[in-house]
Amino acid sequence: MSSLALKRDVASGDSADDSLSPTSTVIDGPIGKKIKVFDLNVVQNNKKTNFPKVLHDPSSKQGWENLDDLEKISVDAGKAIEEFRNYENSARQSIVQVHYTEMRKNQTVAKVDYFYKKYHTFNKCEMTVWEGFEALKGYVDSSDPDSDLPNLEHMLQTAEGIRAAGYPDWMQLVGLLHDMGKIMYLWGNEEDGQIGRADFPQWALGGDTWIVGVPIPKTAVFPQLNLLNPDKNIPMYQGKCGMYSSKCGLENLKFAYGHDEYMYRMLLHNKTLIPKEGLAMIRYHSCYPLHKENEYKELLAPGDEELLQWVREFNQFDLYTKADKRPDVISLWPYYQNLIDKYLPGTLKW
Ligand code: FE
Ligand code: FE
Repeated sequence: MSSLALKRDVASGDSADDSLSPTSTVIDGPIGKKIKVFDLNVVQNNKKTNFPKVLHDPSSKQGWENLDDLEKISVDAGKAIEEFRNYENSARQSIVQVHYTEMRKNQTVAKVDYFYKKYHTFNKCEMTVWEGFEALKGYVDSSDPDSDLPNLEHMLQTAEGIRAAGYPDWMQLVGLLHDMGKIMYLWGNEEDGQIGRADFPQWALGGDTWIVGVPIPKTAVFPQLNLLNPDKNIPMYQGKCGMYSSKCGLENLKFAYGHDEYMYRMLLHNKTLIPKEGLAMIRYHSCYPLHKENEYKELLAPGDEELLQWVREFNQFDLYTKADKRPDVISLWPYYQNLIDKYLPGTLKW
């Protein structure tokens, strides 16, 4: 499949905004456009922070060992599994298992419906993408527990990998946005597994997901934990298709709740111009049984397999754009602001 085959020409939006906050500044964009950037001081201060530099290099254990046990629980565990799977590190194994134990015990059809109600109103706050990144900086994630903008850096690395490989601009933007749904932690609580803190499990923010309302496949990570899922006792969720009809299609399925689903719904609500292939990358990127293990075949409708091909293309950049070199946020941002203006302009509802 040619990546260019799906390239879309979308008219550039114009989100010029003259109202600058006291901590914002204006810089030149790549096409002569003025771009507003907030809080350069935050970014600059961030550069002085000491933190594990090559955590994502699988040949080095540096970084991971600097996290304490509770910090490791907060890791984007699906990603950690992929990146550290060559390690024989039993400590990590048990810690990631805590995350997935909580996930299996709590992620049910009823709980997913509850999250839909709670999060899909999009009346929590209004902000631009950059302001969203600013808000995300309080979220403590896997790689840089002492860093101010670790998620922005991971997302920029993913985007830069996609850009360097020559994929379309909307896919580059997807790289930038793909984990942004973790911003839910701002409105979450401990009970809901959505505290974005290193000392609490985050069972409804990150980690490998699965489709709820149908038996969890044995190819899911930690299959021995499948027994803990309360939905296994509900007859209508059993059998090949569970609560779905055969070939009902990806868009009609419900997934264990987390940053993927939230961001997908948020983008739809804000009428993004990112094409459906890009939206699929965001919604399905954590569902490894679906895109990696080829489960749930009986639920797919015509066209779904093509979408999953795009998700697989995307995932190599999510996983393998290693953090051996930190992206320069200031110099890269104008390029991405231009893509934001094109596909997701202005102030957004979250
Ligand atoms: Fe993710
Ligand atoms: Fe990611």
